[in-house]
Amino acid sequence: MQTKVFHVVIVGAGMAGVSVATRLRELGFAGAVTLVSQEEEAPYDRPPLSKQFLLDGDADAIRLQPEALAAQALADIALIRGNPAVALDVRAREVRLGDGRGLRWDRLVLATGARPRVLPALARSPRVQTLRTLEDARAIRQTLTLGARLLIVGGGPIGLELAAMGLRLDARVTLVEAADRLMTRSAPALIAEHLRRHHVDSGVDIRLGRSVADAPDDGHAVLDDGARVAADLIVVGIGVHANDELAVQAGLAADDGIFVDGFGRTTAPGVFAIGDVTRQRNPATGRFERIETWSNAQGQARALAAHLTDPDNAVPYAETPWFWSDQGELRLQAAGAITGDEQAIRGDPQSGRFSLIQWRDGRIVGVAAVNAARDFHMLRRLVAAGSRLRPEVLTDPQANLKSLIAAAAAPSTPA
Ligand code: FAD
Ligand code: NDP
Repeated sequence: MQTKVFHVVIVGAGMAGVSVATRLRELGFAGAVTLVSQEEEAPYDRPPLSKQFLLDGDADAIRLQPEALAAQALADIALIRGNPAVALDVRAREVRLGDGRGLRWDRLVLATGARPRVLPALARSPRVQTLRTLEDARAIRQTLTLGARLLIVGGGPIGLELAAMGLRLDARVTLVEAADRLMTRSAPALIAEHLRRHHVDSGVDIRLGRSVADAPDDGHAVLDDGARVAADLIVVGIGVHANDELAVQAGLAADDGIFVDGFGRTTAPGVFAIGDVTRQRNPATGRFERIETWSNAQGQARALAAHLTDPDNAVPYAETPWFWSDQGELRLQAAGAITGDEQAIRGDPQSGRFSLIQWRDGRIVGVAAVNAARDFHMLRRLVAAGSRLRPEVLTDPQANLKSLIAAAAAPSTPA
């Protein structure tokens, strides 16, 4: 049953905001849709910013759904650019924009994403950069030339993807990570060590357990152990903060991320939130967390669009989180939890292609695969189903995953 919603206002035109706008149209939503973007840029996809874009600088190639936007958006979706939302009046159902204009909504979607954390000690140096926007990527690309000295702070996906691209652009790359291993937030230790060896063998100088204390004007950075590292460019990739200030000011429940359910509902009626700005129940851990992935932004957007157009038949979003990360010759793909109480390897790490599978209480709860896309797509389904297939079955190189999955299709089916 269609509800009578006349105007959906979406704040933020990243993957989440654009996806919900276009999905509403695909589902036949007949009301008005307005996308409010603080960026002047036409909407674009972020994953290429730490990958192909650094090589080719082709911004046209990364615009979000150019055909769909060209065909529908101009006629059916109003896109306001370069004009941030600055305040919400939840009672009056009005959002105020930077130019003073007020926009009334029947439903409001907050899709404001996240912004990079910064290191206050480096804030004043012109050589320091973060990587979130097209503008950031253009600035990095301009400096990353033959022989440039690149210092990366943070050994997460941003830092490691950038390290690999830096080498491809013939820069000299040093990476410092505060923890004693890489990818603490998003990959199991064994995988992180495999990545570390790959990057070191490729030529990246990786320093674990270190951070940067200062960036004086003499072309160096000073690490927290006093070591000096020559650096023309310092890129800080140490995680993000949710852009949840509008929600907080309006009294919505938030804690570095707006709390939402599987339809993106917030604690204010008629106000929804999706994408990196949200905190939702992670099916892999059972906790309320930020799930900062491209697939999550789209999945939440689809569930919300369905809820807005046909609430009686909409299904809440509850997909097991997954992401990919391209790091030089390696493609990492991971789904679900990064730790369990038992783990096993399928494939051979020496061959460069393998998957690490995690179990908790006898159920498969996570998989991380390196250059093993086919296995990953199969194993991800076992994670989603909470399968009880045993390690000795899955590590058998002769095992046909497709038929095992068919046999274990039901979530509670024992092996
Ligand atoms: P965002 O993309 O951050 O979009 C939010 C938009 O809202 C921004 O344009 C922002 O300017 C705007 N905004 C904020 N406040 C306001 C306001 N007050 N008024 C108006 N507009 C506002 N994920 C993967 O799974 N795999 C990858 O390989 C991968 N690579 C990545 C590489 C990079 C360099 C980055 C930065 C991220 C990558 N991600 C990747 C993560 C993925 O891109 C994000 O999870 C996704 O972009 C989140 O989309 P979003 O729309 O929620 O947020
Ligand atoms: P992450 O939080 O994933 O990684 C940041 C890393 O920096 C962590 O290992 C963190 O360690 C470390 N760190 C924190 N503080 C310091 C410090 N002072 N000195 C040195 N190291 C430090 O974030 P990223 O910045 O890599 O990524 C930002 C966003 O972009 C995320 O939302 C991410 O999901 C997204 N992204 C996703 C990609 C993908 O999925 N392929 C690719 C690129 C970006 P600790 O955990 O111990 O604090």
